[in-house]
Amino acid sequence: MTRALIVGGGVAGPVTAMALREAGIEAVVHEAYPTGADDIGAFLTIMHNGLDALRAIGAEQCVVDRSFAADGLDLYTGTGHLVSEARWHTDVTGPRTLRRSTLYRALHDEAARRGVQIRHGKRLVRAEHTADGVRATFEDGSRAEGDVLVGADGLRSVTRRILDPTAPEPRYTGLNVFYGYTEGLAPTTAPGRYHMITGSRAFFGHATAPDGRTWWFARVPGDELRGGSPGEWAEQASAAFADDDTPAAAIVRASGEIRGGNAYDVPSTPVWHDGRLVLVGDAAHAASPAAGQGASMALEDAVVLAMCLRDLPGPQAAFEVYERVRRARVEALVEISAGLGANRTADSYSFYRHHIEWNRPVDDPAGRVQGDRP
Ligand SMILES: Cc1cc2nc3c(=O)[nH]c(=O)nc-3n(C[C@H](O)[C@H](O)[C@H](O)COP(=O)(O)OP(=O)(O)OC[C@H]3O[C@@H](n4cnc5c(N)ncnc54)[C@H](O)[C@@H]3O)c2cc1C
Repeated sequence: MTRALIVGGGVAGPVTAMALREAGIEAVVHEAYPTGADDIGAFLTIMHNGLDALRAIGAEQCVVDRSFAADGLDLYTGTGHLVSEARWHTDVTGPRTLRRSTLYRALHDEAARRGVQIRHGKRLVRAEHTADGVRATFEDGSRAEGDVLVGADGLRSVTRRILDPTAPEPRYTGLNVFYGYTEGLAPTTAPGRYHMITGSRAFFGHATAPDGRTWWFARVPGDELRGGSPGEWAEQASAAFADDDTPAAAIVRASGEIRGGNAYDVPSTPVWHDGRLVLVGDAAHAASPAAGQGASMALEDAVVLAMCLRDLPGPQAAFEVYERVRRARVEALVEISAGLGANRTADSYSFYRHHIEWNRPVDDPAGRVQGDRP
């Protein structure tokens, strides 16, 4: 196998391309947006396991250079009582926080530096098998051919629907998500420390970035948002914490930049591949943001898929092993994240302890392969 078409230039797409290139397989990324996908004002955290996946292909530094470290997380109640403290490593293996747009840019730049071609303005609309591969058709009428097509096209994946027209739609989790960046306040946490607050009506998280600004998010139960203005989002988010004895409402009210959206998930996608097409990242399994693991799981997928294509005899065998290694882990995460979003306690820390050994061959499909959970 020599050539892969990647659809989607978010998190999983460029990393799959880089990993395939390391495995000696050419990959071209096709991204729908003209200049790379923009964010919706959100930031995210790449956890230990996501960085481990990047490290497997020597690509973690591009994220480390553009992010800030977190050394721990303190959990409070809505009455301001400290419930628990977690401390993480403070070296580069620890979680890193950055804006989504910065992450996309970092991965694009690193992929381009390694010679990966990223074609913008290429929105996949159709894909079909050919005699010895797959042909993709894009909205602008252009086409591309390859041995396999990797659908890294996110929550509302077209590739997922091509693989299985009856695939489930993303599910609204009942949570609105707000993000903001607040300046002019005294530091609200120690540098790089997250404070999380289980408020009486909603969940809040904040951290002080190196420039002194407070980066915050809120998950607020409510009807699905359809648009809205920054003023409306600020009103809704601050009202959710008005009855609590925490800094949340004041941080929201002082915020100069705020965005609102909704949290969705896709608990289980029945069909992940068909021998030529395969899904990675949110296209295969989208978790609600509560566990903060979606991007890290997408990074793991990307690297494991490339290893399977590198080591196994043909795409069908590779995709079967890839699914076997990945499905249980990612679906467990989706379930845990849904529970955390509903304020149930769950252990999401065990997901951090995951290691991918790039130089160890993937075993025979009949045997256990690395990354399998014992
Ligand atoms: C509010 C919020 C907060 C989050 N916080 C965290 C966090 O703290 N930590 C974490 O790990 N995860 C977090 N996540 C989840 C994380 O953002 C996703 O899991 C991750 O982005 C998935 O990567 P992906 O590459 O699969 O999809 P995406 O990053 O969504 O990328 C998909 C790409 O495909 C492109 N595309 C879509 N359709 C087509 C098409 N037809 N043709 C071509 N290209 C197409 C898109 O433009 C996009 O560039 C959060 C998610 C949300 C919504």
